[in-house]
Amino acid sequence: MKIVILGPPGAGKGTYASRLTKILGIPHISTGDMVRDEIRRQTDLGRKIKEYSDRGALVPDEIIIRLLAERLKREDCKRGFILDGFPRTIGQAEALDKISGVDLVINLNVPDDVIIARLSNRLICSKCGAIYNALTLKPKKEGICDRCGGKLYRREDDRPEVIQERLKVYRRQTEPLIEYYAKRGLLRNVSCNDIMTPPEVMVEKIMKVIREVEREKNL
Ligand code: AMP
Repeated sequence: MKIVILGPPGAGKGTYASRLTKILGIPHISTGDMVRDEIRRQTDLGRKIKEYSDRGALVPDEIIIRLLAERLKREDCKRGFILDGFPRTIGQAEALDKISGVDLVINLNVPDDVIIARLSNRLICSKCGAIYNALTLKPKKEGICDRCGGKLYRREDDRPEVIQERLKVYRRQTEPLIEYYAKRGLLRNVSCNDIMTPPEVMVEKIMKVIREVEREKNL
């Protein structure tokens, strides 16, 4: 199944997608992780896109569409994929329709206070990319990843002033996708109103929707 997870920064897209990938056996593709990887490896592209990412702006469509199109050509995407952080503009959604199409869009509805509390306490593993939260999803040992022992860090773009900018960018450029996909009958809403709701509960809700759509569409 070709799944898009839509929602504001801090809605839990990466956290849920990293669990769904194990249940469904299809790859979790995060364009944010791809962007951070290019920046970390200091590639030519990484140097070009760092300034956008650091200030919370979107990387230009043509660059990110090229990156994603290359990734979707790989063998592991044949049975489907879970997209996290793509599309983020109408132009990207149109490009995705041409490249591969979409079966289901899960829209995560999360109130602003939950988003801000999540992002300002988010911790990421520098080695494997696992996501933690200093309030709600603490590692067993402070500052260390449970899975691989890597050091945890705060993302450059999770600073308060950048969070505000990312929320603005989301409203202006990404929110119109809700209507875009609703019109095509592909959108399903899943809400999380309480910051303490554990990821397992949300993943269960999302899995219920996925199973329903699988049945409806005979996938
Ligand atoms: P994320 O981890 O999804 O919050 O993405 C981190 C940053 O990477 C964003 O703030 C953008 O600068 C860039 N980025 C990730 N995905 C996209 C996309 N689909 N379009 C444009 N920029 C993106």
